[in-house]
Amino acid sequence: MSFEVLDKDLAGRIGRLKTRRGTIETPYLFPVINPFDATITVKDIEGLGFNAFITNILHVRRALRELDVVDVHDLLGFSGPVMTDSGAYQLLVYGEVDITPEEAVALQERCGSDIAVILDYPTGMTSYDEALRRVSETIERARALQLIKNDETILWVGPVQGAPYIDIVRHCAKQLSTLDFDIYAIGSPTTIMETYNYEALVDIIYVSKTILPLGKPVHLFGAGHPMMLPMAVALGCDLFDSASYIIYAKENRYMTPYGTYRLQDLEYFPCSCSICSKYAPQEFNEMPSNLRVRLIALHNLYALVSEIKRIKQSIKEGSLWEYVSLRSRAHSRLFSAFLKFKKYNSFLERLDPSTKPLISGLFFYDYHDIFRPKVTRHFKRLKNCLSNLHERTLVLIPRNDGQPFENFVEELVKKIYDTFKDDKEIKVLLYDYPFCLIPIELDGFFPLSQYEAPSKLDALSKVYVSSRVARLLKILKPKTILLYNDVERWGEHLEVACKKSCNIVKVLRSKELYAMEDLENLIHLLRELVEG
Ligand SMILES: [Zn+2]
Repeated sequence: MSFEVLDKDLAGRIGRLKTRRGTIETPYLFPVINPFDATITVKDIEGLGFNAFITNILHVRRALRELDVVDVHDLLGFSGPVMTDSGAYQLLVYGEVDITPEEAVALQERCGSDIAVILDYPTGMTSYDEALRRVSETIERARALQLIKNDETILWVGPVQGAPYIDIVRHCAKQLSTLDFDIYAIGSPTTIMETYNYEALVDIIYVSKTILPLGKPVHLFGAGHPMMLPMAVALGCDLFDSASYIIYAKENRYMTPYGTYRLQDLEYFPCSCSICSKYAPQEFNEMPSNLRVRLIALHNLYALVSEIKRIKQSIKEGSLWEYVSLRSRAHSRLFSAFLKFKKYNSFLERLDPSTKPLISGLFFYDYHDIFRPKVTRHFKRLKNCLSNLHERTLVLIPRNDGQPFENFVEELVKKIYDTFKDDKEIKVLLYDYPFCLIPIELDGFFPLSQYEAPSKLDALSKVYVSSRVARLLKILKPKTILLYNDVERWGEHLEVACKKSCNIVKVLRSKELYAMEDLENLIHLLRELVEG
């Protein structure tokens, strides 16, 4: 087993990928190195904390022919893990490549590649029929690899093609998952990325991840911008590669986690890397172009590596949801992708750990956060918890941290259960955004009391929570309901929800809440309700 998962959050994970020349901690982004371009060197990039590279096998072949080297590590002057790409990108861009699938395999074995890719056939923006033909070809080549490969110590990558056609992606992922690749990849998103079609990218990753073996790392090809890395990781991508750091630099484009700037539009560098601390944007304009490209490329790599670190820290903390949500506000199209992402909450919930993370407080902001997998999990459990509570008197109390709430609820619950002996007749439930209903005995379990929500709720959240409460109450068929309505926070929504599901609803309004001296009267009222 070459891949070990250390930490998880949503479908994202921190893992250890063992190669024969060292371990790579994932999520990881391989900088693309062109050994024939001296603008930026392996040494420069290593200095930023990268410890593995990717280079194109066509460059390696040229080096084998023109230079006196046989090993890709000698060519790059780097002894750590090197991944080679098989030329599929050239196939996508130029429509042809002068290497056969068999040669690509043999060459990668011969040059000492540690992670190698079969020569797949990218689908790009072709017709449906052509995409299907290319995927069949890729599957054939993937099967053939099992017969022609000789070196078992290389990690082989099986690329899922078919984008943008989702059913072809599904077909390809199914076929490849029957073959024992060490790493799976998702191909062709470059054209999707160029058109900012992040929604389609979310679909492609989601479909692939639901099919590919969960224990294997997944590489997303051509997704080398910091802006969309958090969402891709949260969906389960472990590996990335980027040539964009240098391509952007050559076009004077400066990467940040929230978008790309043209150099001429920058008055200030919004970054504190060693380059941005030393220079002002105006100084860049006066430099010789090769130095400028080099410095922007180094900054771009810094932006990428620091984004990966922020994502890892979010996974450790269990705050990846908050981070993806925050980053998705960088661009309207990225926000559209976030809306798609949150629809896959059941998939995310299956992979999201149920254990308490490093930092246990969850932050909720608005309606979208109701789709957070930890909330989805509570809704699933809630159905089981409530399944044997039919036809009782329900006491619904707003959940609220601090005093006087906590003392009051503690006293009330004690009195209720002292008076009514067991919960066969009466049940106390807390209600709140975003968890809707919380049985009192679960209050305190993570994350049902370890969260922060805004003091004022947006209208959609009020409507959503109230209608979900109404749906749950319909299942419970309560005999009577005593509702403590926090009117300031909830308005009339919950009263309406309760009245839809029960004929007898007694409502206490905000000003009557938490009055200790009224406890005896309350118990009297409850006795009347229970006894009908
Ligand atoms: Zn910088």
